Amino acid sequence: MGGIGSDKWWRWRGKKDTVEECLVVGMKDLRKRLCAGAAGTLSWTRTRSGITSSVGYFRINEDPPTVHLHYRRANKVDVIIPVRLEATPTQFNGRRWWFICPLWVRGVACNRRAGKLYLPPGAKYFGCRKCHNLTYRSCQ
Ligand SMILES: [Zn+2]
Repeated sequence: MGGIGSDKWWRWRGKKDTVEECLVVGMKDLRKRLCAGAAGTLSWTRTRSGITSSVGYFRINEDPPTVHLHYRRANKVDVIIPVRLEATPTQFNGRRWWFICPLWVRGVACNRRAGKLYLPPGAKYFGCRKCHNLTYRSCQ
């Protein structure tokens, strides 16, 4: 069994995508709404890159805490992907929340902590910048 992203989509993509081309879910967008049972919608459209998406999410009141991202790709296929959340302690007794990247690359679960998850044009699943091999436009 491979897991999410174990299909080979990342190999067909020769050119590097930039983060600017991606849909992004940032922890800062969710942070204020992270409480047990919370649900809500993040939505945007980006027609230039052919992606029309809305992202809905909710946090299950379970261990481990999980956000389910639900979105629709340009080909009208709905995708639901569960993403684990993890909190790390900060100074002054705070907590910082992270997404745990859900992708598998070459048979290995990524599991990196990420403050943002990206959905490049043509990709099916949100994942961290490393998994999607993203660069910033200014670097190209
Ligand atoms: Zn990753």
